[in-house]
Amino acid sequence: MIDFHCHIDLFKDPIPILDEAEKKGVYLLAVTTTPKAWTGTRRLISGRRRVRVALGLHPELVSQRHTEIALFEHFLAETDYVGEVGLDGSPHLSDSFELQTKILRRILLACSKAGGRIISLHSRRAASSVLDLLEAEPAAGTPILHWFSGSVGELERAIQLGCWFSIGPLMTRSVKGRKLVEMMPRERILTETDSPFAQMSGVPLAPWDVDLAYPALRDLWNCSDEQVDKQLLSNLRNLRGVKSAAGDV
Ligand code: MN
Repeated sequence: MIDFHCHIDLFKDPIPILDEAEKKGVYLLAVTTTPKAWTGTRRLISGRRRVRVALGLHPELVSQRHTEIALFEHFLAETDYVGEVGLDGSPHLSDSFELQTKILRRILLACSKAGGRIISLHSRRAASSVLDLLEAEPAAGTPILHWFSGSVGELERAIQLGCWFSIGPLMTRSVKGRKLVEMMPRERILTETDSPFAQMSGVPLAPWDVDLAYPALRDLWNCSDEQVDKQLLSNLRNLRGVKSAAGDV
């Protein structure tokens, strides 16, 4: 199983969850929300074979944390993974949208200069703007649009631009979400939880709860749970392989 977008550092008690995820063989990308969280989160997951940390600067925090962009650029050499970064076009964040755009442009430029990164992107109510920036910086790496909720037209454009997608159980439970997943190339899909933000019945999803998305994938792809798992793991290998062709893994 794969949880390719999990805020493990924001769980109240992450260690037992990491232990259990390890026991279950879950591959986990621990995204962060500020560059200041980088060092502590690396320490938190150190020695765990299937866990990687991504360096992030969350769009919802850009107005308070934009000065940490220098720190972001400093740490970028230490990782192949970036996230959570992106844009959020929600009305309550409209004051910072211009600054968010500036920061994401600078992040993508830094990724490009560094030889490309695997990038987990937030694009709520801002998919077209995120795609504009990705299109302008094609050497930034491999973008993975997490919990994509844009329009069908935006999705078509994202696919054309080579984007990947990480999808969670909640996305597969809405009619619109399922319709989008159906359009996504299955060889560019990974699973995610976005926990602890993503909750069911008030409880944050655990990384291994990604399998709650399997029934929908099984139906869409007309295959078994085992085949869903196999497809997703093969996708993960390819994603890392793409990266390793360009340098280190
Ligand atoms: Mn997130």
